[in-house]
Amino acid sequence: MSEQKHEILPGVGCSVTGCKYNTVDRRCSAETIHVRNEKAETKGETYCSTFCPRGCC
Ligand code: SF4
Repeated sequence: MSEQKHEILPGVGCSVTGCKYNTVDRRCSAETIHVRNEKAETKGETYCSTFCPRGCC
């Protein structure tokens, strides 16, 4: 299965190097991202639901 790469999302920096969308310069190459947790009140309670581990999906 080929892994399709998209343009880098302008302005989205990300240090999650284990995500297949993370680039060598620590940016996001997903077409769009979704940040989840409707009940978040702190930074640490938010998370990117677009995250996909390298080699798993
Ligand atoms: S999909 Fe989410 S976790 Fe993955 S590189 Fe983009 S912003 Fe980071």
